[in-house]
Amino acid sequence: MLRVSILDGYVDEPTCLGVPPYISPYPRYIAGAIWDFDSQASISYVTIDQIRNDNAFLNYFSKSDVLVVIAGMSVPGRYLSGFPVSPKELVSFLKDIQKPVKLLVGPAARYGFGMSGGKHVTETDAVKNVFHLIVKGDGEIVVSELLKNHLNSDKIDPSLCRKNPHAIKNFAIKGAAITKQHPYFPAHLITEIETYRGCFRTIVGGCSFCSEPSKGVPSFRTIDEICKEITALYNAGIRHFRIGNQPCIFSYMAKGAGEVEFPQPNPKALERLFHGIRIAAPNLNTLHIDNANPGVIARYPKESRRIAKSIIHYHTPGDVAAFGVESADPIVMKKNNLKASADEAFNAIRLLNEVGSQRGANGLPELLPGLNFVFGLDGETKNTFTLNYEFLKKIYDNTLLLRRINLRQVIPIPGTKMYNVGEKNIRKHKSEFQRFKRKVRETIERPMLKRLLPQGTLLTQVFTETYEGKLTFARQMGSYPLLIGIPGVYPLHQFYNVKIVDYGYRSLTAVPFPLDINTAPRETVESIPGVGKKRAIRIFLKRPFHTKEELIKALDDIQIAQNIEEYVQLP
Ligand code: SF4
Repeated sequence: MLRVSILDGYVDEPTCLGVPPYISPYPRYIAGAIWDFDSQASISYVTIDQIRNDNAFLNYFSKSDVLVVIAGMSVPGRYLSGFPVSPKELVSFLKDIQKPVKLLVGPAARYGFGMSGGKHVTETDAVKNVFHLIVKGDGEIVVSELLKNHLNSDKIDPSLCRKNPHAIKNFAIKGAAITKQHPYFPAHLITEIETYRGCFRTIVGGCSFCSEPSKGVPSFRTIDEICKEITALYNAGIRHFRIGNQPCIFSYMAKGAGEVEFPQPNPKALERLFHGIRIAAPNLNTLHIDNANPGVIARYPKESRRIAKSIIHYHTPGDVAAFGVESADPIVMKKNNLKASADEAFNAIRLLNEVGSQRGANGLPELLPGLNFVFGLDGETKNTFTLNYEFLKKIYDNTLLLRRINLRQVIPIPGTKMYNVGEKNIRKHKSEFQRFKRKVRETIERPMLKRLLPQGTLLTQVFTETYEGKLTFARQMGSYPLLIGIPGVYPLHQFYNVKIVDYGYRSLTAVPFPLDINTAPRETVESIPGVGKKRAIRIFLKRPFHTKEELIKALDDIQIAQNIEEYVQLP
């Protein structure tokens, strides 16, 4: 029997996320290619975190015929539930594994290993001795050819790519079942879904820092193909979906794709796509999007408004359209061929606020923009930081809402225009960047969070993920979830409803709701507005309370007792 192992070292690309709780299409398509070749093949899927925790998984690799490693970050990211594999780790884990044909797939194979913003990638050469094939093309196509060629890696061209998006239609369906082996399956696993790949702006060279233009002009999957994949994932048990694997969801099936830089969006296609997804997965828990091009939205407000309304009709609330603004400096915009001016980005932000800022059932606004900025670009000066700040201040002063502001330093990816200058630019403005970041955190992000989620707001279905001391960290499922610190130690991997009590720069403090005042940990009670350390001790000494009056008496302050009522539950 054919035995294959897939090691997911996680990917993070401009248009694809595969770090837990996300699973990218890479392992799903590859598993599909294997089961398409041999439906009886035994496939074992493991994440790098499972290996880090238990080396015994390596034994299975040693007995496999093929080992496929998926890896690579080509955009800088921060993660809570897993960290992408490093080249050093790969060498140490794989150097003694002899039997299988070993393949490296994903952005690490194409561009090298990016480990953090502002630093050059580690060249793939660092791991070439532990692999038979470094797959510059598409993993699923190369694996499929390898199987057809009786595992003879010498016969395989590692740069083989799919000829068109329809080449993966069976793989996408057949590979859905591999998700069952993910440690986060099913309650906490989000599947990243591809609708097309390649960027419309490839025809004008694309943005200077981005790896997407190397994938060519867009080629769309059909609505039927996407919905059949969703059906297969749903039947496998998946309930969380993000339609995030493309440069701009508003441009799916856009008219003039491949011919013009900003093709006209196609609201009918988006309506049919999202309607189809809901039919395919009727009781899904999460349906979110990711990237949207503000240049497209600003140029086509009528179509974009219709599309945003369709998305809101079918999605789940708390959704984010990530706008790659990158820079509000017109000089940087020009030199790096960026996609939108500051005015265009502002108009797109306003449009999305008009359509999507109403609060949804999970406590978050329906659909809001998130902004990505990139630093270290060509033409960047100290004035760039001033212009970027003025742009953010204008958004804030116009009482608009943003779900997130992502300030990143460029990863100089080989093959992009940034490769030779990115690192130098970042060094030059290192302290300016740190100052800017602090100022934005303090004067824009924190006040924006308060505006977005006033104290006492109820957030539902918050999943506990990790601890730091006596603080439990949790997040809602979906695109760009807000980090929530719950004071006290609560069981992990459970869902809670919580009420907001305080704010960090980019995170929230919240308490479970309704809170049982008779059993809650001291740290939780202390954090309820107006309680503090001393009153928490008094509450502790006088527990249990049987009536509201008993609690009021213990607190000696009717106003605070009324405040607390908003958060607690008495028998
Ligand atoms: S518009 Fe720019 S950033 Fe977006 S995918 Fe295209 S090249 Fe990359």
